[in-house]
Amino acid sequence: MDFPSKLLENAVNEMAQLPGIGKRTALRLVLHLLRQPIEQTTSLTTALDLLRTEIKYCRSCYALSDTHLCEICEKPSRDHSIICVVEDVRDVMALENTQLYKGIYHVLGGKISPIDGIGPSQLNIQPLIEKVKNGGVNEIIFALSSTMEGDTTNFYIYKQIKDYEIITSTIARGIAVGDELQYADEVTLGRSLIHRVPFETSLKV
Ligand SMILES: [Zn+2]
Repeated sequence: MDFPSKLLENAVNEMAQLPGIGKRTALRLVLHLLRQPIEQTTSLTTALDLLRTEIKYCRSCYALSDTHLCEICEKPSRDHSIICVVEDVRDVMALENTQLYKGIYHVLGGKISPIDGIGPSQLNIQPLIEKVKNGGVNEIIFALSSTMEGDTTNFYIYKQIKDYEIITSTIARGIAVGDELQYADEVTLGRSLIHRVPFETSLKV
């Protein structure tokens, strides 16, 4: 692609770094921004700057948060003895949309995937084990996508907490095998949560 302007080329190249954005789409977006009032571009860059500098990971559940403790963890009305284990913040958003869950979450930040070089130590697994060890947890609900990586991760955590006096469950497989949690509709997801099954049962299937 030949650009008449180096500035234009730089902006397009930066935009094209984003996933799913090819050079042509990047060019279209950049030209669109150029046609808008400058305030619009400024508010976009300011929002991104603030996002990068100000956003935090909740020190309890590791979800993205504006404060050190996220809104969910901070609420006394949530049942802190039930912890739903999810992959990332999109799953928290999807489960919150169902309005059926009153416990808290634990965001792992990914799944164990040897192929991608992701081992347990790169995920927020240890803090979850510590929470269980420290007591006060009655139930752990595994809500990872039912992919091979999700199952591996569930089982890895399960092995380390199974000797504690807690219930371990997994969301019902209304979620199709291989489906990513955040793409499930609210009704299916809500149902899967309500009809969750003991984790041991899911191992025998
Ligand atoms: Zn939190």
